[in-house]
Amino acid sequence: MRISVVGGGVIGLSCAHRLAGAGHDVTVLTEARPEETTSAVAGGVLFPPPAANSGRVDRWTVASVREYRSLGAPGVRVIRGTYFVPREAPVPSWAFSMPDLDHEPGRLTFTTAVIDTPVYLAWLAGRVAALGARTEFRTVARLDDLDADLVVNAAGLGGGRLAGDSTVVPVGGHVVHLADPGLTEWIVDSSSPVPRHVIPHGRHVVCGGTQEPGRADVTPDPGVTADIVRRCRELVPELADAPVLGAKVGLRPFRPEVRLDREGDVVHCYGHGGAGITLAWGCADDVLSLV
Ligand SMILES: Cc1cc2nc3c(=O)[nH]c(=O)nc-3n(C[C@H](O)[C@H](O)[C@H](O)COP(=O)(O)OP(=O)(O)OC[C@H]3O[C@@H](n4cnc5c(N)ncnc54)[C@H](O)[C@@H]3O)c2cc1C
Repeated sequence: MRISVVGGGVIGLSCAHRLAGAGHDVTVLTEARPEETTSAVAGGVLFPPPAANSGRVDRWTVASVREYRSLGAPGVRVIRGTYFVPREAPVPSWAFSMPDLDHEPGRLTFTTAVIDTPVYLAWLAGRVAALGARTEFRTVARLDDLDADLVVNAAGLGGGRLAGDSTVVPVGGHVVHLADPGLTEWIVDSSSPVPRHVIPHGRHVVCGGTQEPGRADVTPDPGVTADIVRRCRELVPELADAPVLGAKVGLRPFRPEVRLDREGDVVHCYGHGGAGITLAWGCADDVLSLV
């Protein structure tokens, strides 16, 4: 089948990989190169934020963690870390599928994948091309006039616009890269009033972050950068002397829940909010089933 996948972020590329791997004739249509997408801003730790929890999110998370562990891809490491949560928060159900889970009120410790997203996405785009898929860099204005048997709408924020879905909104996220002093564990702290995270990738550490509903621009702010560095150094004192390498802002494609369904010859897969890296492979499996 001739399939156009609109979107070249983690969702579009994972779908394109599954579809081309199953023998379909795939073309990826994207405005941006992989390293310019929101996906390339993500800190890349694999578990969903609390707001995203549901049965299918659990299933997608488990499938994705399994896939990332088995890929042997550059930019992917599997390491232990700690997730601080409010003391009264229940243990999320996906956590029980994580190997070596330890939990006590206010704290979960487990092993999961961390993804250096620009490195991984470059590799994934190469794998997609190696499976025979083509990529065209252009803006798609409408889904119904593409020359294909079937279209996959995996365009993140743009996916909402293309589907006429006003429930998709941008939520800005600001991160800072520091040189990695050799950290061996990730930390996500959702227990403090402003959440923060420290995700080590070997050469650099992604520190964050912010949640800014309605943000439209992606220009880092020096004041926010300084505040993130201060908060993350407080959380991980080993970062005290780590040089600041740069800052990035991305716009998470938020929706009350991920849209993954088929409408005629269009399969929609967008609205992954703050969990697209985590959910990508599980969603790509479901997209393949719908095709
Ligand atoms: C600061 C930050 C930290 C994050 N941390 C994590 C994390 O640790 N773990 C996690 O799981 N997730 C994390 N996320 C969330 C994750 O980055 C997103 O959920 C994910 O990137 C969404 O992927 P996507 O492919 O749907 O969208 P995108 O990466 O935005 O890709 C959309 C693609 O569609 C293309 N496109 C859009 N409109 C059109 C059009 N009209 N025509 C052609 N092409 C179009 C774009 O060019 C792009 O290629 C984080 C996000 C941010 C901002």
